[in-house]
Amino acid sequence: MTHSDPSDSFVPAAHPSTWLGVMGGGQLGRMFVHAAQAMGFKVAVLEPVADCPAGHAADHLLVAAYTDPKALAELGEQCVAITTEFENVPAQSLSQLAQQAFVAPAATAVSVAQDRMAEKAFFAQCAQRSGVMPAPHRSITSQADIDALPDDLFPGILKTARMGYDGKGQARVRTRAEVVAAFAQMQQVPCVLEKMLPLAYEVSVLAVRGADGQALVYPIAENVHRDGILFTTTVPSPNVTSECAARAQAATLEIIAQLEYVGVLCIEFFVLSDGSLVVNEMAPRPHNSGHYTIDACVTSQFAQQARAMAKLPLGDVRQHSPAVMLNLLGDLWFVAGDDLPREPAWEALLALPGANLHLYGKDEPRRGRKMGHVTFVASTLAEAEAHCASACGLLGLAS
Ligand code: ATP
Ligand code: MG
Repeated sequence: MTHSDPSDSFVPAAHPSTWLGVMGGGQLGRMFVHAAQAMGFKVAVLEPVADCPAGHAADHLLVAAYTDPKALAELGEQCVAITTEFENVPAQSLSQLAQQAFVAPAATAVSVAQDRMAEKAFFAQCAQRSGVMPAPHRSITSQADIDALPDDLFPGILKTARMGYDGKGQARVRTRAEVVAAFAQMQQVPCVLEKMLPLAYEVSVLAVRGADGQALVYPIAENVHRDGILFTTTVPSPNVTSECAARAQAATLEIIAQLEYVGVLCIEFFVLSDGSLVVNEMAPRPHNSGHYTIDACVTSQFAQQARAMAKLPLGDVRQHSPAVMLNLLGDLWFVAGDDLPREPAWEALLALPGANLHLYGKDEPRRGRKMGHVTFVASTLAEAEAHCASACGLLGLAS
């Protein structure tokens, strides 16, 4: 018997003085460590790089490859429950951990999110009940697949089926010849060609499900990306209609239930120019667009993850303050024409009303690297937006 089945009651609810484990040492792991420790848990992190954001905060850091059987055994021995902070953790490692501890989310759910084709097939299946479909798409693994592409998929976006993030592993293609070139550029790894859709805006829905099957959704968040990386998240979404928000939340609840998922999950959607809703992808973990929950909701996405994996009651998802989250990328450390990094104007930033600064403890700023975020909370969304715009001005970002 393994402990990966969410209906399994073999592992009792964990007491907040026991150990929880995390696969991965990035900023999501770090914020999870902070939230779990605040509740009294001790946290162990497994990560191959010793100098990592979560490692600086963890009670125990295991420096090892994600597939190292000895390290996995040690983590499984120490912890009552284990989660992951990035979706590309080898599903095999989660299965091994499930022999010793409660693993949430389970390897089966994570592996669906790891493969865009499996993910889209799963979304299409859930759409039979939710009515929310993924973008029209085809799998590309050979020249024959390219030859067989229907004309109405163009213009499109070619995406690698696995390992894509922050817009990496993607190419925009207008013709079959461009697909051939982009597919060659991607070393002919399995890809998905998606029809380019007329996006009005992008939204995401964060959800959590307990081992008992209870599921909750957070308010809908509206996301703006720049250069393929999340720039701001605004909640509540200023543009989405309440009808569209309800459809996205219902589709998310359908997906999380069908997956028999335990823990925090985030689903990204597109709202098209005609108002219709399309499901894009899911992250089997807390998500960048859910960072605002730390400062603006009763229970943060990270505290929620600790509760779900420990089989404790889920927390209240209510948002108590309108919020705008601004990502802080390494670019902010570089002034035009100067190669040496300098610290951004934190004092001025923190003087803005409602500013909550979160830095991830990364020493080396690099362009495009997520160094931290700041969330502005206020009594009205307009105020939070105005303070975020001021922050952009201070930091030299066009808002
Ligand atoms: P991340 O993991 O950072 O969310 P990703 O690299 O996995 O990103 P996607 O979210 O699928 O990739 O795509 C990145 C961005 O590209 C989307 O946020 C959206 O702006 C744009 N995009 C993706 N697919 C489409 C599409 N079918 N039509 C129009 N725009 C798209
Ligand atoms: Mg995305």
